[in-house]
Parts: sequence; structure tokens; C-alpha cells
Amino acid sequence: AKSAGRGTVAFYDLHMDQAVRARRRLEADLRGAIQRSEMRVVYQPVVDVEGRPVSYEALLRWRSPDHGDVAPDVFIPLAEDTGAIIALGEWVLREACRAAAGWDERLSIAVNVSPVQFRVANLADQVSAILAETGLAPERLGLEITETALMRSREETLQTLRRLKALGVKIIMDDFGTGYSSLSNLQSFPFDKIKIDRSFITAMGDDRGAKAIVTAIVGLGRSLDLPVVAEGVETEAQRQMVVLEGCTEAQGYLFGRPGAAPQAAGAQARTAVG
Ligand code: C2E
Ligand code: CA
Ligand code: CA
Ligand code: CA
Repeated sequence: AKSAGRGTVAFYDLHMDQAVRARRRLEADLRGAIQRSEMRVVYQPVVDVEGRPVSYEALLRWRSPDHGDVAPDVFIPLAEDTGAIIALGEWVLREACRAAAGWDERLSIAVNVSPVQFRVANLADQVSAILAETGLAPERLGLEITETALMRSREETLQTLRRLKALGVKIIMDDFGTGYSSLSNLQSFPFDKIKIDRSFITAMGDDRGAKAIVTAIVGLGRSLDLPVVAEGVETEAQRQMVVLEGCTEAQGYLFGRPGAAPQAAGAQARTAVG
């Protein structure tokens, strides 16, 4: 029994070692992924109640020759741990703004910003420089942040948010309802839009609790005069429900999966002329 016990320990050690090594490899490969052109940005439409796109959310995709398609839920936390998110975040912001500058000017772009990027003091300078460089009107850029960004160094975060707002950029509260002290955050931070987390939309069909939360968030949005986006709408039944609840915008596979950027404004006209 004794030797079997030792054998078991050795077995786990070996596997732990492999897991650690796999993670290190992933981390190392992530670092040069932009330079090796393994990263790209896909765009998912956000639609109004009539189903017309009003905005697109930029989402990162990583295709590695060694690891295949790596999900953002895997590589984003890794990039946050190693600090690689700083370069990655700046890259996606620039790519997305450059693309959006060419679209119909009624369309806006939403870019996810990691809490780690917020802790870099010059986020507002970075955004300002990218807007100048790409010529995108600040009002057409939305930055999606989650409540975790607000939990640490509240004062600094608030200051950065105020600077971003002063530029004219919109601030979007992402995954609302899943973090802590959501209600007080809404009051003390200058948000322009709320996104209800997908988990509530998924559950609201057969879970009265989830439905009640959606109702409450929409009510809150209405009294604060903020548009409310329903995330993860996959079915017609869900679409009807969120419209009935009073969500002003929706996003989900029902309207479009993350994919190619919308056509640049004028591209159609040029085609027609040519
Ligand atoms: P998120 O910001 O909440 O983005 C929405 C996620 O839901 C995306 O997953 C999107 O593809 C997915 N989604 C949209 N509609 C539906 C639907 O109808 N059904 C289902 N099942 N899923 C839907 P994705 O692209 O895998 O990204 C996952 C997360 O990774 C994002 O969640 C975000 O937190 C993070 N992420 C992605 N791109 C970036 C980025 O450029 N920067 C940062 N900081 N985070 C990013
Ligand atoms: Ca988001
Ligand atoms: Ca979200
Ligand atoms: Ca999410």
C-alpha cells in the first residue's frame, strides 16, 4: 500500500508537471502571436429592436500552429497573468478603430478592455492617440468593461473613466449582474450602456429568477436613462422576451455570429459605379 501511495504521488506530480509545461508553452507562444499574424479580430453585430445593426463588438481570435484555435476564455486570462494583454489590448483597439473608421458612420464599435489595461496609467492617452491616428470619431467607440475592473483601485479607475468620457468615448458595463455591488457601481461610475450577461438571457425562458433579474436591470437602465443590451440571444423566443422586457438592443447568434467586419462605407457605391 505504501509503494502504491508513493506511485500515486509520482503520477500526479508527472501530470502537474505536464500541465505547468503546457501552460508555459502556451504563454510563450502567446507572446509572439501578434508578430506571427496568428491573431485576428472578428466582429459581432449588436442590433436595435428592429434587428438593424447599430454597433459591432470586436472579439479576438487566436489560431496557433501548435495549439490550434485557442478560445479567448483560455488565452485572455493567460495574457492578463503574464501582462501580454497590454500589447494585445492595444493591438485589438487599433485594429478595431481602423476598421470602424471605414464603416457607415452610424455604426459604432465596442472593444473589450481588460482590468489589467485599466491599471496601466496611460489607457486614456493610448485611446486618444489611436483615435487621432485612425480618424475614428470618439463617439463611435465604446469600451466594454466588467465589474472586476472597478473592484481594484476604484479611484484610479474612476479617474481613467472620466478622462475617457472627456474624450467623448462611451463606457459600456459588460456582463452586468455577475459581479459584486453592481448597483452602487452603476451609480458611481459614468456608464453609457449596460449589457446584461448572457447567463440571464439563456435562463430566463424557464427560470423566473433570471427573468426577474432581467426585468430589474431593464428598469434600472430606464430610470438611469441608459440603453440596455441583451447578450447571447439565440432563439426567436428569447428575442421576443427581451423586446417585451424593454431591452433596447440585442446581440447573439440569432442576429449574427462573430465574423468578418461589415463592408466599408462607399465600397458598395464604388462597386456600383465600377
Ligand atoms: P464577452 O465580452 O462577454 O463577449 C461575448 C462572448 O459571447 C463572445 O465569446 C461571443 O462570441 C459570445 N456570444 C455572442 N453571442 C452568443 C450567443 O448567442 N450564444 C453563445 N453561446 N455565445 C455568444 P468569445 O468571442 O469566445 O469571447 C469570450 C470572452 O473573451 C469575451 O466575453 C471577453 O470577456 C473575452 N474577450 C474576447 N475578445 C477580447 C478582447 O479583445 N479583449 C479582452 N480584454 N477580452 C476579450
Ligand atoms: Ca464584451
Ligand atoms: Ca459580455
Ligand atoms: Ca462574458
